[in-house]
This record gives sequence, structure tokens and C-alpha cells, in this order.
Amino acid sequence: DSHLSHGLLDKLNSEQRRAVEHGLEAQGRIDCPPLLVIAGAGSGKTNTLAHRVAHLVANGADPRRILLLTFSRRAAMEMTRRVERICGDALASKGRAREAKGAILPWAGTFHGVAARLLREYALQIGLDPCFTIHDREDSADLINLVRHELGFSKTERRFPTKGTCLSIYSRCVNAESDIDAVLTTSFPWCAGWREELKRLFEAYVEAKQAQNVLDYDDLLLYWAEMTNDPVLAAEMGRRFDHILVDEYQDTNAVQSSILLALKPDGRGVTVVGDDAQSIYSFRAATVRNILDFPARFDPPAKIVTLERNYRSTQPILAAANAVIDLARERFAKNLWTERNSGGRPLLVAVGDEADQARYVVERVLDNREAGAALKQQAVLFRTSHHSGPLEVELTRRNIPFVKFGGLKFLDAAHVKDLLALLRFVENPRDRVAGFRLMQLLPGMGPSTATRLLDGMKEDADPLAALAAVAAPARVGADWPLFLALIDHLKAGAAGWPAEIGYCREWYERQLDRIYDDAATRRADLVQLEQIASGYPSRERFLTELTLDPPDATSDEAGPPHLDEDFLILSTIHSAKGREWKSVFLLNVVDGCIPSDLATGASAEIEEERRLLYVAMTRAKDDLHLVVPQRFYTHGQHPRGDRHVYASRTRFITEEILPLLEVVSWPTPTTQAAEARSARSVRIDVGAKMRGMWR
Ligand code: ATP
Ligand code: MG
Repeated sequence: DSHLSHGLLDKLNSEQRRAVEHGLEAQGRIDCPPLLVIAGAGSGKTNTLAHRVAHLVANGADPRRILLLTFSRRAAMEMTRRVERICGDALASKGRAREAKGAILPWAGTFHGVAARLLREYALQIGLDPCFTIHDREDSADLINLVRHELGFSKTERRFPTKGTCLSIYSRCVNAESDIDAVLTTSFPWCAGWREELKRLFEAYVEAKQAQNVLDYDDLLLYWAEMTNDPVLAAEMGRRFDHILVDEYQDTNAVQSSILLALKPDGRGVTVVGDDAQSIYSFRAATVRNILDFPARFDPPAKIVTLERNYRSTQPILAAANAVIDLARERFAKNLWTERNSGGRPLLVAVGDEADQARYVVERVLDNREAGAALKQQAVLFRTSHHSGPLEVELTRRNIPFVKFGGLKFLDAAHVKDLLALLRFVENPRDRVAGFRLMQLLPGMGPSTATRLLDGMKEDADPLAALAAVAAPARVGADWPLFLALIDHLKAGAAGWPAEIGYCREWYERQLDRIYDDAATRRADLVQLEQIASGYPSRERFLTELTLDPPDATSDEAGPPHLDEDFLILSTIHSAKGREWKSVFLLNVVDGCIPSDLATGASAEIEEERRLLYVAMTRAKDDLHLVVPQRFYTHGQHPRGDRHVYASRTRFITEEILPLLEVVSWPTPTTQAAEARSARSVRIDVGAKMRGMWR
């Protein structure tokens, strides 16, 4: 209905509108050759994508046949909500508000999430057991470790790469579609001597995954890609979707782009948006070539729309961010401008050390809140998760609630993993990492007995029956039949979902006191987990989605906070992608952090660090604080161990950029005096004095 669409397009500028209407210009006809929107930060790419989906739906496209691929599940949910709102608004303005309710639900998710959904559906067709479980990075590293032990590498070869390094090398080979020699030479030269062993390890790792019916993150993409290699399946899957739209396309890798092209070989119905200057995932084999080469992949080439007006940031913030990225070697030239001419220059704040840095941030955050900005409208960003340590301590001390994105996850807590291992084992008894963890929760059960039991059931067609048939391990005693009964009960689905997680928790809580000293606090988390679980329709969906997109860590360590609470956002720069806040604080803007000490110095890696700084700076709407501690402590991450270093401002902020910033140091003599004053006033307890007076 074109009237509906008119209202919907009102708020867009003419380029955005061009992107939204592409292929729909002719009334009532949908014919969409491929489209690329390439534009700088805050220019409304994501907003345009949401409007495009809404506009497609308004023009008669079936929302269930639209696939929206985003960078995180949170982004997918936000996008779905946005689409609904836009459609709802447009309908409401025509007095048809009731039509919008629940009618607009495109398929939305990450490449991995969508892959998991499709694989379950097509499992039988491609010879996969539909009960597969998914391993997160830590599980994958654990499995590699098991295999490593089995092959004897860890014993005989003392300096064999760690499980984490092995997994990184493996993952790199898979995602970059490149062979192990190339990966070792370019990215892991110090492991090159283990080439033959690594090859054997990876071979055995792949076999183990298949035997155990588990998929790791990389497998989700690989299986999906493999499925699209079959022309019949690819066409069938491609036909399900009239439109496929991808946000943040600059951070997709070779496998993801080949999936997209296999689904839509002629590019019809495909829209991708992104910004080459924000490509920050090459360490996971993302390649900016995907976006740069996109137009020429099709004949005729894809239509390109560029957006130049930035709606997010004030002019001074934009000027500084543009200056940083202008020094980049290679990029698709863009000219961003804004009408938001007010506001001060970004602050470059010199502080003594990380403790001062934490205090500075807390003071400013509280000032902002006094001035009316909620905590949620402010964010503190950092290069690496552990950089926020001192700040977390300070926030906790001052009772300021926060949520941390991209750091340690709720699910990484050992007791949460224990309980999940139980559910995973029931879902897929061949999952050895889950089984190994679970067995050792039983009293008197050590790694060798666990291994023996798991080995005994490995080959059996019915692994659980095989387990039940073994003689009870003597030391486990009465807990063994109880354990078997529980598994049996759950497997039969007798309790039903989500009630069964209550049974699991009860069983596990009986083991808890024996396993941990601080069982009481851990119990609270388990209750939380049970609540989270009850929000999912089935055990399988719960396990899949939790593994793919776990909830974030919070200040009270009791799981994710309620949405209506106010809290400060702490986030790695990587996890801040696509988001925006009124005030942004960037920690440790020093050489060694940005660029990271771990960047090898190869120019490609240094350039990626520059783009990271650009991404961080462009998250700010109204004010931006770049904090530079003069002394910096490297927390065990430094190749040369823990140590204090004298830090200097990041090399990306050159002398020429300085005039675009306001350079200050903190605490200044006046704030020191003010602080001393306020500290004094805290010590005077007027209340006590008054009470004394009346007594
Ligand atoms: P990033 O590169 O960081 O992902 P982006 O290009 O996706 O940024 P959006 O997040 O879509 O940009 O938009 C940035 C901000 O600008 C949002 O607050 C959005 O609501 C606003 N915005 C976008 N387009 C318009 C418009 N035409 N009118 C008013 N505000 C707009
Ligand atoms: Mg965006």
C-alpha cells in the first residue's frame, strides 16, 4: 500500500530513501537487483535497513520470507523491534494500528544462529543427527585438549601449543578457507615446528566432533556452506527467502559471503550494508574485501548507495574521528558531515594511573547523571576485557550498577557450566566434554573412571543403555543409581520443559556443598538460570541460543539485570559495534592498548587497531572522553609478564589531531581541593550530633 509507505519514508533523507525504495520504485512491483549501502559511522545504515524491511512488507513482501542477518542476537532483536515500530507508526498514522500487531516477523539473527536453525531442520537430509549439541569456544578448547592428551602430544612435547592456540589456528584455517601452512607462516610462526602434529590433531578433533555429534561455532557455518554446495539444497533454501539483508557486512568472512552468494547467485533480493572503515574482525578471518568486491560480483553490478550525513555525533566529535580515520592507508573515501554544530571538543584526559582513570570516569558519570543523563545513556569502552578491572572495583565500591558486554559471561561460571553439562548430556549423550564434566560431579568419581565409563558407551548405538549396563563404580555408591534414574527420567521427557531444569537443579544442589566452598552464592545463580530457561520453548532451543549468545556479566553477579533497571554499560570496543550513547568514555588510549601490544606490528594489524579507535570514537553522540593514564599496569597479558609501564598517548592521535581535542589533566588542583572538601564533609555525622542533642 503506497500510502502506508509514504508516511514511512518521511523521516529519511533522499539517499536513505533511495536505498529503501531500491527495486520498488514501480508501483506494486518488487524487482530488486543487488544493493550495497556503504557509508560512514552514524549515517543511518542500520536505520535504513530497518526501514527497507518495513517498506518491503508495506509493499506486499511476505515478512516470513525475509531474512535479516545481523552481527549479534541483540542487534537482531533490536532490528525486529524497530521494523515493528516503523510499520506500527505508519499504520497508526492511517488509523490502522491494530493490523501491525505481531504480523511483521522476519527471520532475524546472526549467521551462526540462523545456521543452527536451518541445520536442525535439514539435519536428516544431510546425514546429521538433529540432536547435535553446540560447543562454545571453551568447550571446543576442552575437546581439543582431550584429543591432545589422547594423541600424547601434551606429555611428550612439553612446549606444544596450548589448547587455546590450537583452537585459534584451527579456526583460522577454517574461516579463512586457507591451508595450515599459510596460517602458520603468517599468523602463528612460533608454532610452525608443530605442523605435522597439528595436522594430526585437527584431523582427530574433526573425527571426535563427528563421533560425538557436536558442532563448534565454525562448524555451524561450514555445514551451512557445505549444504549450499549442493545445488538442489541451495536453490531450495534460496527460494525460502525473497529478500536477504545483511548489516555490518564489512565484518563477514569468506565462508559467510560464499553462503550468501550460494543462496542468491544472481544477487536478486540481496541488500548488504556496512562501512569498510569499521572493519575490526580480521582476527576472526573477516575480510573487508567482501564489501569492496560486492558490486562487481554481479552482472550488471550491484547498485551502490552512499550516505554522507551523520545523525549521531556533534561536529567536534565527528571532526576528531574523521581525522583519525583519514590517516588510514586504504579506504573507500567518504565525506561525513553533521548539522549538530553545538558541543565541545572531545576531551583528551591525562590521569595518573588506572585507579585515577577509574575515579575520573565515576566522577563524570555521576556528574552526567546529576545533569539528567541516565546511566544507560553512558558507556565505558576498552580494548580488551580485563582493562575494566580497576573500574569495576570502583563501581562496586560506590554501588553503581553496571553491565559488561563482551567480557566474562554468566555462563562461564563453573557451577552454571556444571548444570548445563547435565542438560547437554541428556540432549546428546555422545557429547564427551559435557559427559566428562558431568561424571566428575559425582562423589568419588575421578577423571580416569569418567574416561572409562565414557569410553564404554562411545561405540554403542544406545549410549545411555550402555551406561546403565556397566557395573556401578564402587566409590560412587548410592549416587550412581540415583544419577542413572535422573538421566532416564529426563531423557524420557517425563518432567517436561521447563520443569525438568528444577529436577536438575535439585540433583546438582546435593553435590554443590561438596564441590564448592561458596555454595550459597552459587545457588542464587542456579535459580537465575532456571528463570532464564523458563523463557525458552524447549531444552534444545535453550541450549542452542544460550551457547550462541550468552547473557552478559553484571555487577551483582546474579545474572542479567531486569531491563527496567538503570545501569552503566561497560563494553569492549568490539562488542560496542553499531551502538551509540550520549556519553562515551574510552579507557587506556595509550600505545600498547590501542594499538595493542599483541598486534605484531604488521601494517595490516596496526591499521585494524586504527579502525578500532575510529569505531570507539564514533559511538559518542554528545560527549567523548579519551582517557590516557600516564602509568599503566600490564596484567599478565604482556609477553614479558606483569609490569608497570610508562604509557604514552596512542600514536593514532598525532600532533595534527591534537588541536581538535581539548587536552586536560585530572585531577586538577581545583578538583583536588573540592575532593578534599567533600571528603571532609562525609566525615561529619550531623545526624548523630542531633540525636545526641535531644537525648
Ligand atoms: P554504525 O556505522 O555505527 O553502525 P549506522 O550507519 O548504522 O551507524 P544508525 O545507527 O542507523 O547508523 O543511525 C545513527 C543514528 O542516527 C541513530 O540514532 C538513528 O536513529 C539516527 N538517524 C538515522 N537516520 C536518520 C534520519 N533520517 N533522521 C533522523 N535521525 C536519523
Ligand atoms: Mg549500524
